[in-house]
Amino acid sequence: MSYNINERGYYGDFGGAYIPEMLYPNVEELRQNYLKIMAESEFQKEFNQLLKDYVGRPSPLYFAKRLSEKYKTKIYLKREDLNHTGAHKINNTIGQILMAKRLGKHRIIAETGAGQHGVATATVCALMGLECIVYMGEIDITRQAPNVARMKMLGATVIPAKSGSRTLKDATNEAIRDWINNPVDTHYIIGSVVGPHPYPDMVARFQAVVSEEIQWQLHEHEGKSEPDYVIACVGGGSNAAGAYYHFLDNTNVKLLAVEAAGKGIHSGESAATSVLGKEGIIHGSKTLLMQTNDGQITEPYSISAGLDYPGVGPMHAHLYKTGRAKFLSVTDEEAMSAGLDLCKLEGIIPAIESSHALAVFEKTSFNPTDIVVVSLSGRGDKDLETYIKHFKL
Ligand SMILES: *Cc1c(COP(=O)(O)O)cnc(C)c1O
Repeated sequence: MSYNINERGYYGDFGGAYIPEMLYPNVEELRQNYLKIMAESEFQKEFNQLLKDYVGRPSPLYFAKRLSEKYKTKIYLKREDLNHTGAHKINNTIGQILMAKRLGKHRIIAETGAGQHGVATATVCALMGLECIVYMGEIDITRQAPNVARMKMLGATVIPAKSGSRTLKDATNEAIRDWINNPVDTHYIIGSVVGPHPYPDMVARFQAVVSEEIQWQLHEHEGKSEPDYVIACVGGGSNAAGAYYHFLDNTNVKLLAVEAAGKGIHSGESAATSVLGKEGIIHGSKTLLMQTNDGQITEPYSISAGLDYPGVGPMHAHLYKTGRAKFLSVTDEEAMSAGLDLCKLEGIIPAIESSHALAVFEKTSFNPTDIVVVSLSGRGDKDLETYIKHFKL
């Protein structure tokens, strides 16, 4: 069985492009061109150069000694938090801005939850001198205020999404609406492995640099290029897709995906899609999503804006259904405590999203000889307000 996408744009039963007619020309143009453009040597050269000189790649693979001692296993952190702009999102936005330029687009739109993708998009638009409009839920605008200021400083226009739960899902709806109204000159930079085909595959390929580096970096540390486990948090699933990518078909490497259980899986305030979700269509792809019995999307909740999404990308729906990845859920409380633990043990303040992945060590035990790589998807600067409130700092 393959865990990668097939030529029709599906991961098993999931994926495809369920889009309104108005969007078809845009999505089709991208579908016909993305692989061709990505394969061009000029494109590769420019992409890799920017990842190196602008983003600061490769990001370190850091052996977390004190964390490893605490949990009696070998823990490595893939330090995406050290990238320019503070998360893995920039890998994808660099790729997509180069793609947009090759397609002759000069207006860029994006959705954002935590604001990391909005910042990463505003950053590459400044870099390339392109217009940038970011849609963001009203709630997220409040809880991630520093990132809103960053986007504005970088020259982007931030438009609040005021419908639904006023978070990521609603921002995505607004961005899609904009794209329908501006089909010719606009490229929509989607921030995760979600959306209609070819987005999930394109974003996964841009993020695949993460597992490519893990392979050679682990070889330097351990003399072997495959870990026993890769752990990543899953909102839409892009940092996980990047960290898994080169291991997808190597079943020696066990994959753990961590979702946000909010105030508890069955509390009614959760974003644990694998447990609560059913098959359905959201934002242009068939996947697992949280919905009511009559198919209305359930409003999700998580303390972490980046995981506050009612679905997962189609790759992850497939990994879940086939059992290739094991899905776990972590509550707000568990994540916050794991985040603070990393601060005290390793001197690293993680994003609250990434803290969800770290909380796995309290719920699962590993063998002393296991090599466990955790995707540290982002840094905690943007979350200071939330940390301050939670721990009364
Ligand atoms: C956006 C974000 C996430 C969640 O998005 P994925 O596409 O699931 O990776 C996780 N961590 C950080 C730091 C983020 O900014």
